[in-house]
Amino acid sequence: MRGTIMKGIGGFYYVNTDRGIIECRARGKFRYNGLSPMVGDEVEIKLERDQGIIDEICPRISQLKRPAVANVTQALVVFAFNHPEINEDLLNKFLISCEFNNLKPIVCFNKLDLADEEKKLDVIDMIRNTGYEVIFLKAKEGYGIYKVREKLKDNITVLCGPSGVGKSTILNAICGKELMETGQISHKLNRGKHTTRHSEIIELENGFIVDTPGFSSLDIGHITKDKLQYCFPEFIEFIGICKFTGCVHHKEPDCAVKSALYNDKINKRRYDFYVKTLNEISSKKKY
Ligand code: GDP
Ligand code: ZN
Repeated sequence: MRGTIMKGIGGFYYVNTDRGIIECRARGKFRYNGLSPMVGDEVEIKLERDQGIIDEICPRISQLKRPAVANVTQALVVFAFNHPEINEDLLNKFLISCEFNNLKPIVCFNKLDLADEEKKLDVIDMIRNTGYEVIFLKAKEGYGIYKVREKLKDNITVLCGPSGVGKSTILNAICGKELMETGQISHKLNRGKHTTRHSEIIELENGFIVDTPGFSSLDIGHITKDKLQYCFPEFIEFIGICKFTGCVHHKEPDCAVKSALYNDKINKRRYDFYVKTLNEISSKKKY
């Protein structure tokens, strides 16, 4: 029988199958080969005397550390128009991190009620050029939440973004009803800051959502100079056209990415962020 691990507590894993949730233990062999089941894993299980046993773990398509969840397919990258103000570099950093972790980002701009028109247009222009989907929200009023719910189908979704932008509000709005129905809302979302707990995934709209707001700080230092360009989807169509193989689109002549920049096909602020990150990577290498 096949299923998805929804949560893990004290050596037990709760696996969502065609026959409902089955409590499982992992086979001892996983301990020897250094692999241990994670929330989000797709697993093959057997029943032995009414006890579920995890037999195989399917290859992971992604693996996040914080929250520790496997097979996450997309991230809602949440920023607020105001309180706190949009930090564009941080937004770009999140987008790079999503690409690097093999997650599809969906940019959610929350607190539309507090938006300043001019600022709004600038950021929207920048994101439009990347090709990423954008959703506008007033999460506190529930505005736009149905659009987020529509995106959940067939995905494992995580929320990420800086503190205070409304991630918990969005999560509550998306799955508040489901959580309340099972009486778990206080346990899940209103927990104290210092309570350590493991993430779970919650099934809804034919998909799963990670029940904790995900990464809010990032280290993208493990991305190498030659890989960085692939974290910018709007560069991809130009990369192969550059004159020099191994072009990192900075100081090289006859660079197709730079031509695209001069022809307004690539947003200048995104390109500047690319160069800034490239320089950060180079300066780190010296130590
Ligand atoms: P988190 O730190 O990202 O989880 O952010 P929270 O969900 O805790 O929200 C931070 C604050 O922003 C709370 O006081 C929310 O009530 C408020 N907030 C959330 N959504 C909106 C919105 O659409 N408009 C406004 N004005 N405030 C919001
Ligand atoms: Zn180039």
